[in-house]
Amino acid sequence: MKEIRWMSDEKFPLEMHKARVVQKLNLLEPEKRLEAIEEAGFNTFLLKNRDVFLDMLTDSGVNAMSDKQQAAMLQADDSYAGSETFFRLEAAVRMMFGTKFFLPAHQGRACEHIISKSLVNSGQSVLMNYHFTTSKAHVILNGGKVEELISDRGKELNSTEKFKGNIDISILKKRIKELGSENIAFVRMEAGTNLIGGQPFSLKNLEEVSEICRSSNVTLVTDASLLADNLHFIKTREEEFMHMSINEISLKIGSLSDIIYFSARKLGCARGGGICTSNENLFKKMQALIPLYEGFLTYGGISVREMEAIAVGLEETMDEDMISQGPIFIEFMVNELVKRGIPAVTPAGGLGCHVNAMSFLEHIPQNEYPAGALAAALFIVSGARGMERGTLSEQRDENGKEPLADMELLRLAMPRRVFSVSHAMFVVDRLHWLYKNRHLVGGLEWVEEPDILRFFFGKLKAKGNWPQELLNKFKQDFKNSL
Ligand SMILES: *Cc1c(COP(=O)(O)O)cnc(C)c1O
Repeated sequence: MKEIRWMSDEKFPLEMHKARVVQKLNLLEPEKRLEAIEEAGFNTFLLKNRDVFLDMLTDSGVNAMSDKQQAAMLQADDSYAGSETFFRLEAAVRMMFGTKFFLPAHQGRACEHIISKSLVNSGQSVLMNYHFTTSKAHVILNGGKVEELISDRGKELNSTEKFKGNIDISILKKRIKELGSENIAFVRMEAGTNLIGGQPFSLKNLEEVSEICRSSNVTLVTDASLLADNLHFIKTREEEFMHMSINEISLKIGSLSDIIYFSARKLGCARGGGICTSNENLFKKMQALIPLYEGFLTYGGISVREMEAIAVGLEETMDEDMISQGPIFIEFMVNELVKRGIPAVTPAGGLGCHVNAMSFLEHIPQNEYPAGALAAALFIVSGARGMERGTLSEQRDENGKEPLADMELLRLAMPRRVFSVSHAMFVVDRLHWLYKNRHLVGGLEWVEEPDILRFFFGKLKAKGNWPQELLNKFKQDFKNSL
């Protein structure tokens, strides 16, 4: 990427695009924000978007599309079988990963469903750098077990490690030996490791994992949902591969993996998903399930218009200017938080800015969900909606025991090309106020707790009257403004 310099020391992220379609935002009165979050059971997933000012819940399906993507949608070829649109998408995938076969599926978790159903036998283990909520749920539903082998440095919230998403190579070797390849369904590497703060793996690490898998006859599956960010980090942080183009790096990742799948709600900035492989046996196994669960092989449950948008989105992902936008905004926001002494995950990753709720709200024990409480508190004082990524996002074991998450994070997703510097600064300002008043925030307890993926639609309530007290102090300090 070409470097842009500033005269002053103050550095702002610079957008390499301009807005040509906009959406009006709505900032509710503070009392209404409190009412809305109470009604949502203190779960930001259950808020209505009309009540939300800045939607930083997720980067999924809410990234801004380009003019070229919108234009391509008009040419969609709407046939059930053999659609021209499918062949355009297949060609874009091949350009990116160099894989022979492509299976469309309606989103990332649908790919996980197909992969786990095809590859996981009861009692087998899946070894991975780190789990993602839906990827783990599908392995378990098929009778498998998940083992996370992320390197120790990956779990440190603040470090100088550039690739916190790396798997621990010596533990991987050891576990493959101990378990025997017949007891391992596959090894899964997640790009831009979501639940530890959008942290990348290095290409070197993937090379080593691939070599080990191939020599021990274990299938390597790469989850490329957050690959755009990971490609940016390889290109800017990994000395050894900086000379390669983004496309050369993505092709290399394709050649190292046996299966690559992705959520096109993130990769490609549209809505859909897909599974890529060059292995004919694996392809045939998975292919049989697509018409059953997703739709015919040339659409897989995705709208043809979205498929056109994904094809262009994948081509645009090969552009460094484009994929740098998310990470440079996130880095800016993290730096602004750190300047104010607010605990955030460092180095900055992709997908969003992650606040360390365990240290922000030291006085709240993990079983009272500090990250969930922080998400609710931030909504009350700003109308910005983040997401809990901590113990609430875990699920109880077979004995009903609640595992405590390694980290309690409030994730403030930065949908790609959506927000501006002033939006980022507004959230930083409100978090700063909240940090100074953190003693006012209390814990949460369950009112309705679903068994599976409870964070999506579970309902909670505040322990005590803290939300009202927080609101009172906010109104006093901000002199009844918004
Ligand atoms: C979002 C995501 C998924 C699931 O994708 P959906 O399209 O939301 O179903 C899987 N893996 C990772 C790493 C993700 O970030």
